[in-house]
Parts: sequence; structure tokens; C-alpha cells
Amino acid sequence: MGYLKQRNPFENALKQFDKAAKVLKLSKNQIAVVKEPRRVTEVNLPIRMDNGSIQVFKAFRVQHSIARGPAKGGIRYHPQVHVDEVKALAFWMTYKCAVVNVPFGGGKGGIVVDPAKLSPAELERLSRRYFAEMSDLFGPDKDIPAPDVNTNSQVMCWMFDTYSMQHKEHIPGVITGKPLGIGGSAGREVATALGMFHCVVEAYRIMNKNLEGASVAIQGFGNAGSNAAKFLSDAGAKVVAISDISGAYYNPDGINVNTALSTCAQNKRWSLQGLEKQLQVEKLKDPMKLLELDVDILIPAALEDQITEENAANVQARLIAECANGPITVEADAILDKKGVRVIPDILCNAGGVTVSYLEWVQNRMGYYWAEERVNEDLKRFMVTAFQQVWQTSEQYKVNLRIAAFILSIRRVTEAAELRGLYA
Ligand code: NAD
Repeated sequence: MGYLKQRNPFENALKQFDKAAKVLKLSKNQIAVVKEPRRVTEVNLPIRMDNGSIQVFKAFRVQHSIARGPAKGGIRYHPQVHVDEVKALAFWMTYKCAVVNVPFGGGKGGIVVDPAKLSPAELERLSRRYFAEMSDLFGPDKDIPAPDVNTNSQVMCWMFDTYSMQHKEHIPGVITGKPLGIGGSAGREVATALGMFHCVVEAYRIMNKNLEGASVAIQGFGNAGSNAAKFLSDAGAKVVAISDISGAYYNPDGINVNTALSTCAQNKRWSLQGLEKQLQVEKLKDPMKLLELDVDILIPAALEDQITEENAANVQARLIAECANGPITVEADAILDKKGVRVIPDILCNAGGVTVSYLEWVQNRMGYYWAEERVNEDLKRFMVTAFQQVWQTSEQYKVNLRIAAFILSIRRVTEAAELRGLYA
């Protein structure tokens, strides 16, 4: 699995499930209905390249659960996308939607591709062909995709257009994360990071700590990571380290986030490349050392399996806010627990994205669009409510926040599955 260091994130996800299921004393029948994915689809997509040749791309869509509503989850483009990774991401979506209590199940998609190697026209043909090939699965009441790593609002727009053209109807509710000019929601672009920010503020409030001056390290500087840096620095926190595939940049006195953002914007592709020429920062020899810096808050915002049994003991952060999905393995969780490091788990911490996706879908179906203030107000209410419910569950069962988030969400999913019963 290449960038996942041969680990299997789906096994990791199932171990997380088992821990919570044990506390909940779920029966075998209950587990059977809500643990494994409902449907896994794999296709091979032939695409005509600009030079006239045909290249075939493998792609997936996993629908983990539709117990609480249509499947929901992003589409990832990455050369090492693997079906087990997509299954794990779909599984986390089911429980993420249940934690924040939006009426969706869980799904996820992926294409095995390095989009940096495609021209814009090739990328458009691939995105359209993916949606066309899978169009029986998708629909505003069936399965609603969204952006993920290496996909953006333009890709969502091509997919929405493909589906609408096939159905000869305007159907914006089939996908979320669309551009504002064509059915997107105000606030969606920054929603994941803003949701994380509400979680960190709540955690700090409950722990009686002051965010002003708190030091922060962030791994990944894309949609989630760069906006996380902006919200935290605007609130007075000191961002001391940031990284992306170009490397990790560190200054214990703080990094000017606005300069980092403008460096990314100036590069041909969004990247921190060359930041050491713009700012006084040290480029770390080993970018993974960013995870071991002595900081108050660590934010993994890149990919899965970054904190493992190999480096967890070296983590010095007091609080970890998981913007990425699955950045900490089960083994590492146990080590962090022993060290007293609090982890705001992915299925709570990065749920702001799917929450505003839900609000986008609602607006698409009403045909009436809200101002950003209204969206942000709703997002805050969903996030703060979920955070407080997870925190209370963790105190009630004396478990960490991850197990608490699973207890809360598994209970909601099993309840829905039981109320519905089995068809035929
Ligand atoms: P993105 O493509 O916008 O950014 C990913 C960033 O990670 C890039 O800066 C990339 O250079 C960096 N990166 C990749 N590999 C790295 C490595 N080995 N070390 C350091 N940096 C690395 O993606 P995104 O949308 O910001 O998603 C990031 C994470 O957040 C993913 O796990 C995704 O599933 C999760 N997430 C995103 C959203 C959302 O709305 N965007 C919602 C929920 C969860």
C-alpha cells in the first residue's frame, strides 16, 4: 500500500469498532448488520489521453451503510488508492455522520491516479467517466459524493454536470462541495477546518486552558491543514510547524501563516515549496519529526497511519486534533492514552466538512440558499453539540474520546438498523 507503509486501514477501523462494540455489549446480530460495507464496486475506466493513447484507471466506490440515510463520502484521487483504504474511509463516514447526527450513511470512492500527471482535459474526462460508470449507484437519495484528497469543487462540478446531463434534469443534490456559482454552499470550503477549530476551542474551554499563545504543528497543508492554520493563528495560537509533500518547515517562534498561504498560491500547484526562502524557517531533514515536536496541539491533516507504534512514544503534544481520517493506529492510540495525550478523533474532529455538505444538500433540495453566517451558525451548533455528547460519553464510560465517539455513533446506527428491520 505504498504511502500507507503496508498497513491496512480497514483492519485498523474494525479494531476501533470492536473496542466500542465490547463496551456497548453489542450482540452478534447487531454487529453483523453494521460492521462490514454493504457494497463494494470496482471498475476499470478507459480514458483517451491527449496524445491519442488509451490508459485504463482502476476505481472504486464503497457504500458502507445506508441505515440512517443515503451513503455519503468523498472521492479520492491518489496513485496508491487501495480498496481496503476506501473501505476504511467509507466505514468512518458512517460513524462520522452519526456522531454529528446528520441523516446520512457512509460511503467513499477513489481512483488510482496521480492527478498531477494528467492535463486538465484528461482529468475532466476521467472524472466524468467515473461518474458515468457509477451513475446507477449515485443519486440525491442514494449516494452523495464529495471532495477528498486531490479532488476539488471543479471536479465535483464536472461530476454533477455528467449526472444531470445523463438524467436530462438539473440535479445538484447528487454531489456536494460544488463551486459557489453552481449550487455550492457558502462556508463549505473551510468547513472541515472550522469544525476542527470548534472542537479545539471546546476542548480548551473544558480543560480550562488558553488558546492564546498555544503552540501548534500541522502535518498537511491542503484544504484541511491550511485552513486549520488560518483559524488557529487568527485565534491567537502560534503555528510553529507546517508540512506538505514538499517538506516540513519549523520555527519555534511561530510561522506567519499568511506568508505560507501566499507562497502556496504563488507556486504553480498549491505547495509550500520554497517557503524557507520566504520566511525564517528550518526545513526538517525528516518531515515525520514534525509529529514529535514539543507543541501544545498537533494536527495531522494529510493521510492515514502517520502515528503508529513506531513513533507514538515520541509524541510530545498535549492534544491531537485529527483533521485527517485515520492518522493514528489502534496500537498508537494505546500508547498515547498511557502518556495522557488527549485525541479528538477524526470522526468528530473533521466532521465539519460533511456537516456543511449536509447543509449544501438541504439547500440544493430547497432551491433556497443561505448566507455564510447562517451556515456557520448551524455548523457551530452541530459541532459543539457533538463534542459535548462525545465528552460526556467518555466520562460516563471512562473511555477515551475515540471510543466514546464510536459508542455514541454505533448506538445511533444500530438503533436505525433495528428500527428498519430486514427487507425480505
Ligand atoms: P488536500 O489534497 O487538499 O491536502 C492534502 C495535503 O497533505 C497536501 O498539502 C499534501 O501535500 C499533504 N501530504 C500528502 N502526503 C503527505 C505526507 N506524507 N506528509 C505531509 N504532508 C502530506 O486534502 P484535504 O482535503 O486537506 O484532506 C486531508 C485529510 O483530511 C485527508 O485525510 C482527508 O480524508 C481529510 N478530510 C478532509 C475533508 C475535507 O473537507 N477536505 C473532510 C474530512 C476529512
